[in-house]
Amino acid sequence: MVSRVIPVDPFDLVIFGGTGDLAKRKILPALFRRFCAGQIPREARIIGVARSELTDADYRDLIAKTLDGTSDKSQIDAFLNCVRYVPIDAHRTDGWARLNDFLSPERVRAFYFSVAPHLFGELAQRLHDHGLANDLTRIVVEKPFGHDLESANALNAALAAHFDESQIYRIDHYLGKETVQNLMAVRFGNMLFEPLWNSQYVDHIQITVAETIGVAGREAYYDYAGAMRDMVQNHLMQLLCLIAMEPPAKFDPDAVRDEKLKVIRALDPVEPYHIVRGQYEAANEDMQDGYRAQVGKPRSTTESYVALKCHVSNWRWAGTPFYLRTGKRLVARSSVINVVFKNTPHAIFGPEAGRHANVLSIRLQPDEGITLKVTIKEPGPGGMRLIDVPLDMSFAEALGSGANEAGDAYERLIMDVIRGNQTLFMRGDEVKAAWGWTDPVIAGWQARGEVPKPYASGSIGPGDADELMRRDGRRWQGIKP
Ligand code: NAP
Repeated sequence: MVSRVIPVDPFDLVIFGGTGDLAKRKILPALFRRFCAGQIPREARIIGVARSELTDADYRDLIAKTLDGTSDKSQIDAFLNCVRYVPIDAHRTDGWARLNDFLSPERVRAFYFSVAPHLFGELAQRLHDHGLANDLTRIVVEKPFGHDLESANALNAALAAHFDESQIYRIDHYLGKETVQNLMAVRFGNMLFEPLWNSQYVDHIQITVAETIGVAGREAYYDYAGAMRDMVQNHLMQLLCLIAMEPPAKFDPDAVRDEKLKVIRALDPVEPYHIVRGQYEAANEDMQDGYRAQVGKPRSTTESYVALKCHVSNWRWAGTPFYLRTGKRLVARSSVINVVFKNTPHAIFGPEAGRHANVLSIRLQPDEGITLKVTIKEPGPGGMRLIDVPLDMSFAEALGSGANEAGDAYERLIMDVIRGNQTLFMRGDEVKAAWGWTDPVIAGWQARGEVPKPYASGSIGPGDADELMRRDGRRWQGIKP
């Protein structure tokens, strides 16, 4: 299946932090792939900005190294022809006029803030002061969007001082994943699921985002943030919203985001005994790769794992718990949402047939796809014994090469910025509501001086997380690669 490519109009994209890790690993390769796919026209301009004194040629060399070496050389040259570099220090006043000279007044001009968050407000101010902001301006802000409610409010205010909300694109790259959007397609494009999507039929929902990597390379940032801020407040919260929200009247940015916001506002505060925090231990005998050794703080109390139970207090979900868990250095890299349905009300096959529940698993990564566990008769003579079998749909198998052609999250999100579609970006009030829910949890840990439970690297996390489920007569679905 070949996906349809609709070219965008020529645009100017300025990447602040154009020499940084994110720009080199994600943003520029994503732009290159969209260029090769024919979506970005040759007249587009991509301008890298950072403090380093580089020429256009230096910058193009730097980018060429990050691009897929198997690509056609003529494609690489054509892409690099769109690329410029302007050295600017966000704290200084020089360089802005030169940057302005590159920008066309008639085109969409997007400014991607791929720099440390403390520079976001200052960049917004300078764009305004140096006359670079106009009605066609869009700004793209990377995560983390604030460290807590207070800092997120300050950041929202700093951006709102110069830009309308319709010009601000807050990235949560999880929302750009094909399967995450498929969540909405599955829910609202099929008659099959929606009538069952409520507390009458759903026993509980599990959202798991498990990583095998540790914090190496991001030690200082991570130890300041922890799993609750780094993953739960944004990625897991967004998944929870998409699973729990009411159907919007139409697939329009504000209609979708209004419904997501209602979910966050309906979340009950989390009880302290409904949360488990963990911190991974060393995997190697030299003990140098445990969490505390890696961040260089032998007494760090930052969590690399969180499991929690929460409730969405509204008509649809009253009584159906949501269990969220995320952690680093776990047994497998796996992001999956499991919707666990209730048992049948009456067991007509007798107690020996056992009780079985349907589980709808939506795999976000790896091997994106959907599995529905259904109960059938075990084949063969000997009575009515029941077994669960998976109805499995891997998107890669079902869609063939089309699944890959769809592109990665950054490709989709950057093209949405250029097209002016904010559906997959977080609105200021969503971010604020999410911090409003997360802050008291973190404040509670700090007030109680809580220390995370240690867990073995390569495990499924601390045993207390299993206990969280067991207390409710439930269990986690396995973390499978
Ligand atoms: P990085 O590798 O440290 O790059 C920072 C970039 O900012 C460099 O290009 C640096 O170049 C430039 N810079 C620093 N100070 C500057 C200043 N005063 N004026 C202008 N440019 C300046 O950081 P990163 O990993 O790319 O992360 C960038 C942002 O994305 C951060 O907010 C991070 O939290 C977020 N993020 C990153 C990732 C990731 O995978 N890397 C994932 C999610 C979110 P010079 O030193 O030459 O100025």
